Amino acid sequence: MAAEPSRAPQHRTQHDQSRQSEARRVAVVGAGLAGALLATLLGRRGVPVTVYERRPDPRIAGAERGRSINLAISARGLAALEEVGLREHALARALPMHGRMVHPSGGTTNFQSYSADGTRAINSISRSELNAALLDTAEATPGVTLRFGHKVTAVDTASGKLTLDGPGGTLTEPADIVLAGDGAYSAVRRGVRPGGAFDVDTDFLEHGYKELTIPPRDGDFALDPDALHIWPRGTSMMIALPNLDRSFTCTLFWPKDDFEALGTPEAVTAHFRRHYPDVAPLMPDLAGDFAHNPVGSLVTVRAWPWVRTGEGASVALLGDAAHAIVPFFGQGANCAFEDCIEIDRCLDETNGDWAAALTRYQERRKANTDAIAEMALDNFVEMRDRVASPVYRARQAAVHALERRLAGRYVSRYELVSFSTLPYAEIPSRIRRQNLAVAGAATAGTLLAAGALRAVRSLRARARR
Ligand SMILES: Cc1cc2nc3c(=O)[nH]c(=O)nc-3n(C[C@H](O)[C@H](O)[C@H](O)COP(=O)(O)OP(=O)(O)OC[C@H]3O[C@@H](n4cnc5c(N)ncnc54)[C@H](O)[C@@H]3O)c2cc1C
Repeated sequence: MAAEPSRAPQHRTQHDQSRQSEARRVAVVGAGLAGALLATLLGRRGVPVTVYERRPDPRIAGAERGRSINLAISARGLAALEEVGLREHALARALPMHGRMVHPSGGTTNFQSYSADGTRAINSISRSELNAALLDTAEATPGVTLRFGHKVTAVDTASGKLTLDGPGGTLTEPADIVLAGDGAYSAVRRGVRPGGAFDVDTDFLEHGYKELTIPPRDGDFALDPDALHIWPRGTSMMIALPNLDRSFTCTLFWPKDDFEALGTPEAVTAHFRRHYPDVAPLMPDLAGDFAHNPVGSLVTVRAWPWVRTGEGASVALLGDAAHAIVPFFGQGANCAFEDCIEIDRCLDETNGDWAAALTRYQERRKANTDAIAEMALDNFVEMRDRVASPVYRARQAAVHALERRLAGRYVSRYELVSFSTLPYAEIPSRIRRQNLAVAGAATAGTLLAAGALRAVRSLRARARR
């Protein structure tokens, strides 16, 4: 399986004085998953970087309410974390999920392995722990300065200045390079001047999400922790991922109106008893969680271009700010991490020439992020609807059988997305080629079998004569 070349971490320490002299004043906006990783990668190149984060330090203040509590991290995310020495740390704090446990309406649960041999797993990890580990690593990197409680409100590419709301009021800070990792509703994307905001399409799903909790039962997991649990319900669904404290975080993906329709605790309890009967008794705080936890929006962001250059500064978007995707392939953070690695790689290839590197970065990444955005939307239908059908299960069994028989030559889409670093944009065409080859072989096989049958019949007829 194709993997992008990986470089040993010590590579970063070999950057010489000349590279350092090219360092500019670099600002990273947002100390989320992408911003914290990118700051570390840049610091290790000898580029001084200041990270501005609107929130207080989450390691002190605690996690922000309303963000997803845990994430599935897979091959792409792990490859990126390896670059900053955090792969093993992350895996040690993660729970592997080797497949989906499907809870059909009115049926018995069934486990669907993610890989043909059952060995591959995606990893459930706490978002706040991962963010804290990335912030610790960034903070320990020479040249990286973290400034919490600083909300960027505008970027002037002509004068090379950021405007921020800080603890003491509004201030401006100089910056030659501004890397915007400030999330799906990016202030930088909206607040860049002159020339107005970046061009962007934002598509909101009619579905929102709300998180609920299944606490441990008698000190243990209430469900199998080796699986990502799915309750497919046609137009909506619930999923659950395990946490290290033996609880599960459930996420409801429902049409937004459906959340509002359940106006009382009794209505919530009755709805769950009816539609999620196996799990309702495992949620003692169901009605309270439902009432208090917010409904989040699900958005696909397609910005282009991602880079804007003026007399005084260049601005580039990354992560969700450039390409937020719906979470149904568990790839948003994995994909944002790949952006950071690509920026670092492009700086390597251009000897630290920021203008050339950022242009190369956006050109290489755009087709990939468009591809995963489409696959993520498609996977919503698969998860909420198709996985429950016996036909789907038979098809999956056939796919795994083909994967075993044609090892390396026939690989499922899920495997290519989650367990490889093949560029996302190459996956749809690879799947098409594989399917054509299999269809061709099947047709040839059928013709051969028909030919053989005819030959046997004619031999038998001759023998009878
Ligand atoms: C329900 C749900 C489940 C998900 N599950 C998965 C999953 O299983 N696997 C996966 O890979 N991805 C998943 N994702 C996607 C993932 O959360 C995002 O893709 C990822 O967080 C993007 O990282 P980011 O750093 O670009 O943005 P963010 O994580 O959003 O970080 C942005 C940061 O910028 C800061 N900021 C915002 N505005 C400003 C400002 N004006 N000034 C300064 N700072 C600012 C924010 O406070 C934040 O710290 C999920 C998303 C959702 C909604």
